[in-house]
Amino acid sequence: MAISKILIANRGEIALRIHRAAHEMGIKTVAVHSTADADAMHVRLADQAICIGPPPAAESYLNIPNIIAAAEISGADAIHPGYGFLSENAKFAEIVEAHNIIWIGPKPEHIRTMGDKIAAKASAAQLGLPLVPGSDGPISDIAEAKKVAEAIGYPVIIKAASGGGGRGMKVCTAPHQLETLMQQAGSEAKAAFGDATVYMEKYLADPRHIEFQVFGDGRGNAIHVGERDCSLQRRHQKVLEEAPSPVITPAQRAEMGGIVSKAMAEMGYRGAGTIEFLYEDGEFYFIEMNTRLQVEHPVTEAITGLDLVREQIRVAEGLPLSVTQEDLEFRGHAIECRINAEDPQTFAPSPGLIKAFHAPGGMHVRVDSGIYAGYRIPPYYDSMIAKLIVYGRDREGCLRRLRRALEEFVVDGVKTTIPLHQKLLDDPEFQAGEYTIKWLEQWLAREVAD
Ligand code: ADP
Repeated sequence: MAISKILIANRGEIALRIHRAAHEMGIKTVAVHSTADADAMHVRLADQAICIGPPPAAESYLNIPNIIAAAEISGADAIHPGYGFLSENAKFAEIVEAHNIIWIGPKPEHIRTMGDKIAAKASAAQLGLPLVPGSDGPISDIAEAKKVAEAIGYPVIIKAASGGGGRGMKVCTAPHQLETLMQQAGSEAKAAFGDATVYMEKYLADPRHIEFQVFGDGRGNAIHVGERDCSLQRRHQKVLEEAPSPVITPAQRAEMGGIVSKAMAEMGYRGAGTIEFLYEDGEFYFIEMNTRLQVEHPVTEAITGLDLVREQIRVAEGLPLSVTQEDLEFRGHAIECRINAEDPQTFAPSPGLIKAFHAPGGMHVRVDSGIYAGYRIPPYYDSMIAKLIVYGRDREGCLRRLRRALEEFVVDGVKTTIPLHQKLLDDPEFQAGEYTIKWLEQWLAREVAD
């Protein structure tokens, strides 16, 4: 069914991203916003805007009755959830569909399965994806935990079944710590996610984080859109992402890509998804699947020319994917810098008034951002204010262009992580692509010590 009006259940740069794809397809948009976001760019650009509540996200961007009411009042025939907020809430997806509104996202049952990390691992194993060695399911008692840890070997990592955002993980290096860490992980998981269920995995010493973008039409056809390297993390949060990964060969991409697209086809997966792996010594280990668009999706768009949001909308309309696996070509190199309104040394949030704003431009430079001069960054939400995505014919050219683009970037009035990215670009190990998931934190510790 053709979509004529999309309600965008999100804010910031991703709301704008969805608005742009919709308008390019001739589809009208409805912005929803909290009282703190009345002046936001996505609200200004949308065809209609509806206030759905006060600043706290729980009362606005997570307020399901108000969002559904906004869709009904505005006559929206589809909802795009973006990332974060309600994007991986299976119940919300079901409620949207129950109101005869098109859900621009995966089938609710797939969101539910992949949202429970233990069920996700079981399902991944069944689909033939390689796993990190670990417990077969939840672990509740200490004797069992000890047995599993001995079988897979220390160090192990205790993870929350309902975890997300890198929270609720404990690394255990020796048997005597196990009891305390199991208890801590359980109570932290309960506090953060309302679910104390934990499981255990082998803690890989020094892997990279490499994820595959997948796309399914919901009717048994699926493709992979290559990998992204997201190893540069601080506190398990991604800071800079690139595509392709500096360490993956075309043969490895074709092989692993073939495995993940076959798995998605078998599942009957619908829409965009990301299958996350840890990668060490030439081997991939599945850790989780995200059933939504990722923050870092533009690097994939840059090297393939595929508009992933347009593709999501098409699939939701019941159309087939616009490309086949054979059509897709991976060309050149792209890097995304996440620019946060934070102190680049302490990472303390720095909300407030943007006094001047100048985005870089020129060939192959993309800035996804909702900020402008005179805009006041509210203190209630995520601190990411812009994404800078740069493309080059090869990694070296991409790095040169990125340095030039960062030099042009002006954000006055608040502190940002632009200087951090500039410093990172000067590092020879980063330039050589020689980094793992631990590298950035070690580098930051050295930078502070200097
Ligand atoms: P979340 O959903 O909270 O993001 P993930 O399972 O995706 O949790 O893991 C987040 C990050 O934690 C990974 O990118 C990696 O840096 C680290 N991590 C997770 N599992 C392991 C493991 N078994 N060994 C080493 N590091 C891990």
